[in-house]
Formats: sequence, structure tokens, C-alpha cells
Amino acid sequence: MKAQDTTEAVLADRWQAAQTSLESGSGELVKTVGLRKVFSSGNTQVTALAGVNLSVARGEMVAIVGPSGSGKSTLLHLLGALDTPTSGTVYFAGNSLEGISEAELAEFRSRAVGFVWQRHHLLPDFTAAENAAMPLLARGVALREALGAAHSWLEEVGLAGRAQHRAGELSGGEQQRVAIARALVNGPLLLLADEPTGDLDEGNADTIFELMQRLHRSHRLTSILATHNLQLARRCNRTLVLERGLLALGEESLAERESATTRAASGRAKAQEERG
Ligand code: ADP
Ligand code: MG
Repeated sequence: MKAQDTTEAVLADRWQAAQTSLESGSGELVKTVGLRKVFSSGNTQVTALAGVNLSVARGEMVAIVGPSGSGKSTLLHLLGALDTPTSGTVYFAGNSLEGISEAELAEFRSRAVGFVWQRHHLLPDFTAAENAAMPLLARGVALREALGAAHSWLEEVGLAGRAQHRAGELSGGEQQRVAIARALVNGPLLLLADEPTGDLDEGNADTIFELMQRLHRSHRLTSILATHNLQLARRCNRTLVLERGLLALGEESLAERESATTRAASGRAKAQEERG
């Protein structure tokens, strides 16, 4: 057996095991233990994540909110193995991502995880279908088959009629739909989205969120999305609040935070009134 065959056999076993444990309903898909990430540049160190313990069950749609710089993107990058933690561990379907080979990580990123970014990062000169097919082409799937799969995903996101349009000619909302099709074309279990509606106006943000929610349900995904939009966050199963690299209490704290903000604002207004 060649080395490559061995790697493939190991990977096949690993995903088979992950898949079986998911189908048999063991709840947790993603877990982090003591996740820390420190960025160093020159003499300064920035602690982006300061020890995050997180558990997300399969089928959950979880929102991560928090001020800019609180570590949302860093957390999503670590969950998707796009970056490695300074310390702590990410578990996916019970498997630690620590110490696994670069080849296995690449396989994990391509098969198990789909990413949607704030900016769509499409190739503007390629068609919507070619863009959506890109992850399959990168895996060596034949062009015809890849484009076929891309087409059916474009249909699912309501863009069948735009498949042959160049991505650069599409509207912001349409581009984000293509990006969603591209994220899902490999059939991932986990969808990670970093402010996916951040560049869109309110109407388009709503439509894109609804689309993600519909796909989340129909494809039995587990979805984790960072957002600034508290209205959208509230429509997820659960909201986690990140503050300076640490998770705050969760959805209760979101409501508390809002009412605290309201109380503070009305307090200030009252004080102002009294001062005349
Ligand atoms: P958010 O997505 O919530 O806005 P980020 O995860 O992007 O927050 O950033 C968290 C902190 O880590 C910020 O202080 C940011 O400046 C810092 N940071 C993020 N990425 C890097 C990097 N590659 N190098 C240095 N500092 C970084
Ligand atoms: Mg961010």
C-alpha cells in the first residue's frame, strides 16, 4: 500500500466514525477547551481569545455577537482550522484537531466545513457556476460533474437564472448567494459565517439570513455565525457574547445588556432633564 493510500484509508475511517457518531445522535459537533490565541507582532502581544470553552450541538444555529475586536473572526478561524490556537483544543465530532497532519486538516476544511465571509471573495471574471464549483474543482472533481453540482446549488439559493453570469456583474446580495452555494457544494457538516450580512442593506441582510436558516434546516447543518445584527442573532437557537476574547454568559446576558443599555440611556436622559 502506498503512503497516500494509507492516509486516505485513515481519513475514510475517521470521517466514517464521525458520520456514524453524528447519525447515532451523540449531541455535540464542536467543542473547544481553553482556547487561547495570542498574536505577536514585534514587541506587542494581542490576546484575541483568552480561554474559550464552547460546545455546539449538531443541528444548532448559534450566533456569536460582540464588539469589534472581541475575537469573533479569530474564533471562527480556529473552529474551521484555518489557524491554530496558541493553546487549548478544538474538537470536531469528538476528534481533536490538535496534532493532526496538514493533509488531514486540509481534508477537514474541504469536506467538513463551509465558510461564508462578509466579503464574498468570488472571482469576478468567472461565472456564478464556476465560482460555486471551485471547491469541487480544487478537490479534483471533473469539470462537468462539478458544474452540475454547482448548478443545483445555485438553484437552491435561487440563482439558477444567473449561473452563466460573471460574478462581477451580480449584485451584492446575489454574490453572497453564490458564496453560500460555494460554501455548501462540498456537503459540509458545519457552516461558519463571519458577518455574512455585514455588507448588505437591511432587506438583503434579512433575505440572506433567511436563506441560510432555510439551508441550515433542510441540509441538517450546524451553523455558527458572527454578526453585529442583534435582530438576526435573536433568530438563531442561541447567542453567545464574546467580550475581549472571553465568552460572556450567553443569550440571557444579551437581553440584560440591552436593557442595561436602555436603562443607562434613559438614566442619562433623565439626569439631563433634571439638570434642565
Ligand atoms: P472581531 O472579529 O470580533 O472583530 P478579531 O478576531 O478579528 O475580532 O480580532 C481580535 C483581536 O485580535 C483584535 O485586537 C485584532 O486586532 C487582533 N488580531 C486579529 N487577527 C490578528 C493578526 N493576524 N495579527 C495580529 N492581531 C490580530
Ligand atoms: Mg471579525
